[in-house]
Amino acid sequence: MKKVFKGIEDKRESGDVWFDELKRKRTDGPAISTKRYVEFNESTKSVHAGQYDDPNTNALGTPIFQCSTFYLNESSYNAIEEGRGRDEMIYTRYGNPSQWSVQEKLSALENAESSIVFSSGMAAISSTLLAVLDKGSHIVSSRDIYGGTYNFLYEDLDRFGMSVTFTSPTNIEEIEAAIQDNTKVLYFEALTNPLLKMAPIEEIVSLGKKYNLRVIIDNTFLTPYNVKPLNLGVDLVVNSATKYLNGHSDLIGGTVSGSRKLIDRIWPQMLKNGGSMDPHACFMLERSLKTFALRMRTHNANALELATYLEDHPKIKKVNYPGLASYNQHELAKKQLKGKNSGMISFEIEGGDAKAHSLLKTLKLPKEATSLGGVESLISLPYNTSQASLTKEQQKEIGINDGLIRLSVGIEDIEDLITDFEQAIEQIF
Ligand SMILES: *Cc1c(COP(=O)(O)O)cnc(C)c1O
Repeated sequence: MKKVFKGIEDKRESGDVWFDELKRKRTDGPAISTKRYVEFNESTKSVHAGQYDDPNTNALGTPIFQCSTFYLNESSYNAIEEGRGRDEMIYTRYGNPSQWSVQEKLSALENAESSIVFSSGMAAISSTLLAVLDKGSHIVSSRDIYGGTYNFLYEDLDRFGMSVTFTSPTNIEEIEAAIQDNTKVLYFEALTNPLLKMAPIEEIVSLGKKYNLRVIIDNTFLTPYNVKPLNLGVDLVVNSATKYLNGHSDLIGGTVSGSRKLIDRIWPQMLKNGGSMDPHACFMLERSLKTFALRMRTHNANALELATYLEDHPKIKKVNYPGLASYNQHELAKKQLKGKNSGMISFEIEGGDAKAHSLLKTLKLPKEATSLGGVESLISLPYNTSQASLTKEQQKEIGINDGLIRLSVGIEDIEDLITDFEQAIEQIF
């Protein structure tokens, strides 16, 4: 029997109270610039938040602190002794001003108290989960989930004495039914790959409150531009920064954001797993984030136009896109995205996988490659990339039909993209 959570007394009974009653005084996390630009909008935050202008040189923009270690002094010795290593310059795996600067920008964009950057999305996800789960913990997650995350949950949790149940990402009754006595975390993706199913975040948060569970959302597909899960009550949000956050297909990185208390708990796990972000990669990510809102606006607008064009095309059987009235969670999309959208589309073409392959070969602009969120349009077939480990029957079961194509719409001129699809579809039929 799972127990409905009644309040702090329940926790006292189970001895699980110390973490909530920690009284240590906290700041918002390590930062060398305290400017969050919280009162400003997305583009202003993207450009300015977290940037550190070096007072010694008057250089405009955060320098790259490309060092592995720092001179020790009274303050760092004290920090080491008091276990406050996260706020001090000691050693770059512990922290580095290049990381702090980009973390501040991310916290501004996510509306978070604190953030950590990692060497990859998977480093962020695995360290976050290991930090918040204990031996014997159970987690409820989705069948429609990123392959690397699925493998971690399915293959590795077991070895730590933990377990997982996979449910539909959209059916709240099924999610609730999967919660057990020892469930600690609900882990879902805001928008799934490749069918773009939308997690009902507020309902999942309600379940989290009802059973005293932590809710973690992977927001890679939507990004904080389109939805801010922390504003909806989620405890932690993770991102593969490799995708939209960096946006130029030239870096691997990951992020986690949330309350300072929880992020402080993930930090020592990051130290042990070792997936910290290199200072040069931090510079690249901070530089890319300056155009984040600008890029997202174009990704969204292009995707909406292209999805509308494809839906009207006689050779296209079905288009999955949250901005279309035909999207089967359109009401939720309107409510959750508040007029924002998505840069991802998936669609089924007549003639199945054979025609889908021809289309990829015939298009001139979208590049045939896995990954997503880059300035260039990227196109691939889920059946032989992201969902290749599933049998044809399993693929059909979750809705990956013959001829399904995944498209990450870039920021090229929309007229050029539509003309390209027009000529390619014309040519292959
Ligand atoms: C790519 C991706 C990841 C993994 O990120 P890496 O940076 O490749 O480690 C996790 N979740 C989602 C939804 C992704 O698309």
